[in-house]
Amino acid sequence: MQIKRSVSRILCAAMLVASVNASSPAAPAQAPAIHQTENVVLVMIDGMRWQEVFHGADSKLLETLGSDMPGDAKERADLARQRYARATEAERRQALMPFMWSVISSQGQLFGNRDLGSDSHVINGFNFSYPGYSETLTGLADPRVDSNDNVPNPNPTVFEWLNERPDFAGKVAAFGAWEVFNGIFRSQKCGFVVNAGYDPLTAIPATPRLDLLNTLKRETVRIWADEPFDPVPFHTAMEYVEAKKPRVLFVGLGETDDWAHAGSYAEYLNAAHLADEYLRQIWELMQSMPEYRDKTTLIVLPDHGRGMGVKWTDHGQKVPASMQTWMAFLGPDTPPLGERKQALPVTESQIAATLAALLGEDYRATFPKAGVPIGDVMGK
Ligand SMILES: [Zn+2]
Repeated sequence: MQIKRSVSRILCAAMLVASVNASSPAAPAQAPAIHQTENVVLVMIDGMRWQEVFHGADSKLLETLGSDMPGDAKERADLARQRYARATEAERRQALMPFMWSVISSQGQLFGNRDLGSDSHVINGFNFSYPGYSETLTGLADPRVDSNDNVPNPNPTVFEWLNERPDFAGKVAAFGAWEVFNGIFRSQKCGFVVNAGYDPLTAIPATPRLDLLNTLKRETVRIWADEPFDPVPFHTAMEYVEAKKPRVLFVGLGETDDWAHAGSYAEYLNAAHLADEYLRQIWELMQSMPEYRDKTTLIVLPDHGRGMGVKWTDHGQKVPASMQTWMAFLGPDTPPLGERKQALPVTESQIAATLAALLGEDYRATFPKAGVPIGDVMGK
């Protein structure tokens, strides 16, 4: 088996060299002929800053947190300090995102630590959610996508494009806290399951666990009109994975952005910590299933960044720093280069073609204006 794979790799490599030589030197990277990835999970953590990913909890923000507040706000602040305050940056980020800084940092790659010369950003110019998700999922920064209104995306996502291909038809699904994923993925016509906001999941046969998740979605207090707390959509997505085993899965978590807008640094950190725990759960679930084990790539990134210092709560066109993002990759084709230093800049518009290329598909053959695949995360 191993020998056969090696021979086919050499043949494929020769074909790849031939095809590269046949095209102009400036030709963008093609989808690789060699790939072990058969499934991709894309997790997006809404508005989570690169600063916390790479530095852990901000010491200054933690110090001032809740000091002038009575009652349970003070208690929550104390708890956040206990959980996330540490003496060094390495300890702080490990405390906040233990999966990121153990498994992904040793077996995958992380872009976006500007202090080490790695830049990741959005190019849409808006620095808010719908344009950020759309740029990531379509590969295009379309100026028509200029609001967070829950309207159908003018462009298909790479998920819709893959679902139209024979190998992936019926094997694509998207789950998100935010109801606007219905518009972003064009749920009315995209042809695959999109479950978002407070909608119950009814696309698969009921199970006791799914019934309870749908009940919690219906009955839990609604702090935000357009999205439930992250645990419900997350566990709904995992229920779907066990039932249908999709090859291309999106999971959108929203609490980081909501708590940041609310100015609650403690809850923002808790949401980030929980998101990291969910990455671990997804990874461990998939490594336990033969359909996914050693042939699944996990991609993680936010839809935009946020401001710095006291502006940490904000993002958008008036907060230039909120164009700054980060991204993480973990899978069988991604060389384990860890935290990237002095790397070429990467943009969210490259994710659609990268995701497709990891699956051996050339997205830019259909959408030549999409960002090019990130070659560094392929070809281990
Ligand atoms: Zn926001």
